[in-house]
Amino acid sequence: MNKIGVHALSWVGGWSEAEARTAIEGSARLGYDLVEIPMLDTSAIDTAMTRRVLQEASIAATVSLGLDPTNDITSSDPDIAQRGETHLKTVVTLANEIGATHVCGVIHSAMKKYMEPATDAAIDQSADILRRVCAHAEGLGIEIGLEVVNRYESNVLNTAAQGVALCDRVGAKNVKVHLDTYHMNIEEADSAHAIMETGDRLGYFHIGESHRGYLGSGSIDFDGIFRSLARIGYGGPIVFESFSSEVVNPQLSSMLGIWRNLWSDGEDLCRHAFQFTTAHLHAARKVDGLVKQTAAAGARDG
Ligand code: MN
Repeated sequence: MNKIGVHALSWVGGWSEAEARTAIEGSARLGYDLVEIPMLDTSAIDTAMTRRVLQEASIAATVSLGLDPTNDITSSDPDIAQRGETHLKTVVTLANEIGATHVCGVIHSAMKKYMEPATDAAIDQSADILRRVCAHAEGLGIEIGLEVVNRYESNVLNTAAQGVALCDRVGAKNVKVHLDTYHMNIEEADSAHAIMETGDRLGYFHIGESHRGYLGSGSIDFDGIFRSLARIGYGGPIVFESFSSEVVNPQLSSMLGIWRNLWSDGEDLCRHAFQFTTAHLHAARKVDGLVKQTAAAGARDG
């Protein structure tokens, strides 16, 4: 039921046809159902080529991005906010051209370290703009995911509860919360509980380790996280996100502070992540089935 995906930056830093083929064909070969394509610079993606390579590999796609200080939709400068709205609508249009199903990421604010908390007026403005972006996306059948990230990457969404509240404020059918285990590990008191509380508002899920390297080689409790995903019946994409100084995208690498080499063989990393994810999901569904069976038997016997 869940599409299992991988972020293109585990494979390549750019998007020439050769790079697109490496990421798309490599992911398909390893068994992945989808590739998440970063689209910070809309002029860097050849949509016709991307669509063709995706179709040849029979693999789905999603698009992600982070806004920056020049197109931040929480900005008090109306020109900057307008640039952000135009940019997001363009990304949605291009996502549709490549056949993507979702546009997600840090699209509610800039992806940067803010030096002050978000004001209520800034969050309202973000919600108003996102409502119009969602209306544009709905016409194209695209779902919008608002990514909850750590305090050093946004001052708008740092917890799942804030994500649910912003989705309510936007009030569109096609807006959902996008959670990420790397960020939850920093900000949530209890990641598994936060997933339960998000429930059917969860629309997109990133799995990444505490240091963004190989899954299982850091400090995140993936058992609890996958059990929560199974318990809420989450059916959306689960996308592996990992970054190393081995693969460099100049914009994204500097914004995310990718200074260390956590791995050098992207293919081995992605093969391992696919096996790790499918094995954990399979086990979590078995646990969820056993819990329900036990509860039902208890109710019968009691
Ligand atoms: Mn993420």
